[in-house]
Amino acid sequence: MNLLEIKDLHVEIEGKKVLNGLNLTIKQGEVHVIMGPNGSGKSTLTMSILGYPGYNITNGSITFAGGATSAGIELNSMPIYERARLGISIAYQTPPEIRGVKLRDIIRIAGNHPLWHPENEPEETIATPLLKKVGLNPEQFRDRDVGVGFSGGERKRAEIAQIFAATPKLMILDEPDAGVDIDSLKTIAIDLGEYIQEHDCACLIITHYRHILPYLKPDIAHVMCGGKILKSGNPFEIFTKIEEKGYCEYLGLCPPGIRDEVERGMKI
Ligand code: ADP
Ligand code: MG
Repeated sequence: MNLLEIKDLHVEIEGKKVLNGLNLTIKQGEVHVIMGPNGSGKSTLTMSILGYPGYNITNGSITFAGGATSAGIELNSMPIYERARLGISIAYQTPPEIRGVKLRDIIRIAGNHPLWHPENEPEETIATPLLKKVGLNPEQFRDRDVGVGFSGGERKRAEIAQIFAATPKLMILDEPDAGVDIDSLKTIAIDLGEYIQEHDCACLIITHYRHILPYLKPDIAHVMCGGKILKSGNPFEIFTKIEEKGYCEYLGLCPPGIRDEVERGMKI
């Protein structure tokens, strides 16, 4: 079953064309990796799938088969919270800080639970096991403001706890390995890999590095440049080629107008 289907997607931000005819299909339970030079539109793609305001779809469609039936529903003009309800969750490249909101409560909100109140629930039972699962000590983290003063690894773990609470059908991870030390990276990747297996969850991962891939077992990798997917194929073959030769190999696949801009951005 096609879970997510993106056809000829064009997106502008503040009048700037960022996605230029992107096509992508993700089936239930599949793990896809997207890599590409900085500024190629990877985060824009994730924000457009999620429906973040300001990401204007000027052409094309995003459909998601997350509802009660297996038929795809067009997301183009659906608000962000409805997309989340359908089963799409994201771990942002730069997780936000939210002062005044406790981590336990944002995890509970993600799972559609009421805020914690000791009279109703003497011992907090929703966020606590999820924090333990992602390796954050609940006694230390539950009552802290979301993201405030967290290290890079702690931020990513806190985001992943929110994703697990939401039990999504599609999780989108925008550079889950950015700013995370190698040991934390391994535990985060193991947690994510187990979740994907247990829930038959589809996953779209954006990364520049291969470290987490053995744990997440991607089915396919895509090279993105200039707001388009230029090449799709075996993840380990594509990574090896990029590590050896960089992205220059793929620039020949860019349409001419877009290629000039990408080369300027890469300072070739
Ligand atoms: P990537 O994640 O691949 O590094 P992004 O999707 O973050 O790339 O950005 C793609 C392009 O869109 C970049 O040129 C970036 O400067 C531009 N862009 C992203 N967000 C905005 C914004 N809010 N306003 C203007 N331009 C933006
Ligand atoms: Mg990005």
